[in-house]
Amino acid sequence: MIIVLKPGTSEQDVQQVADAVKKFNYEPRLIRGVERTVVACIGDERNHHTLESLIVLPQVESVTPIQKKYKLVSREYQGRDTVLDVAGLKIGGGTFHVVAGPCSVENQAQTMETAKVVKSYGATLFRGGAFKPRTSPYDFQGLGRDGLEILKQARAATGLPIVTEVMSPQDVEMVASYADILQIGARNAQNVPLLAEVAASGKVILLKRGVSGLIDEWLLAAEYICVHGNSKVILCERGIRTFEHACRNTLDLSAVAVAKKETHLPVFVDPSHAAGRFDMVIPLARAAVAVGADGLLVEVHPDPATALSDGGQQLKPKQFGQLMAEIRPIVEVMGKQLGRA
Ligand code: PEP
Ligand code: MN
Repeated sequence: MIIVLKPGTSEQDVQQVADAVKKFNYEPRLIRGVERTVVACIGDERNHHTLESLIVLPQVESVTPIQKKYKLVSREYQGRDTVLDVAGLKIGGGTFHVVAGPCSVENQAQTMETAKVVKSYGATLFRGGAFKPRTSPYDFQGLGRDGLEILKQARAATGLPIVTEVMSPQDVEMVASYADILQIGARNAQNVPLLAEVAASGKVILLKRGVSGLIDEWLLAAEYICVHGNSKVILCERGIRTFEHACRNTLDLSAVAVAKKETHLPVFVDPSHAAGRFDMVIPLARAAVAVGADGLLVEVHPDPATALSDGGQQLKPKQFGQLMAEIRPIVEVMGKQLGRA
């Protein structure tokens, strides 16, 4: 942490800052310039109290952190890519996996049909929401436990591991007993008690970025899961809210590049929620592969026009087949292995 003092600060006021720094167990080093004094504070900012509150002292002009706040998820901590094992699938480190399935589990027929068809086109994991975080309380909220039972049948029929969202800490144990990967949705991206609870489940966690989440906030949410003893995290960029309304959200491909550089965790992209419209999903998926993502999360529905949620963005099975065909050569160019490794 670097504290810059205002010009003309008296010796007594310099010492007051140095004393305050010591109280937080940092060692203050004074750098005296011609006009102003700078206090360099020695200590690991990640496990010390922040000094940011010293900005309230009248002689302090600025307090600037020099370390990143995340540690366990960083490349500095672990240089090599994390490779996760999900029911025998290797995720990260040179593989590319596509998670596909409906936004919501609506009934058995719709779910089973989708699971079988996405598998036939090369998806290696199946998604479907049983607990739906809908913007409006009047919209379909998901089938809950009945939906999880249907997902279990889909897994039994296809062998595809299941990715499904959990929305509240008290449901974690139950959802974890059905799911292979627990999804934390964008609306819960900074729900600390939920992050702690999913970490404790020991499952692989697919962590979406918050709707208005900074990259740092996303990585720190992953850090929360790691700090609670579970480093099996997949980051998932799903578009952020910007001033642009042509698509539902703006897919932030920079965030994927940054996350790949900063962390060792696998990074997936969800082009469906980013686009919010089916006709943009394939181009965004191609771009996601090219920017270096390790996988995709794509919504597919046998008949999107009748979907109970996110109908406008779900691909028909044939369109999903086209997506798989179009990403295949790009995955190869990126030096990754598509599907079951
Ligand atoms: C979903 O995956 O269906 C979902 C609700 O996603 P998000 O949390 O990204 O909106
Ligand atoms: Mn959805």
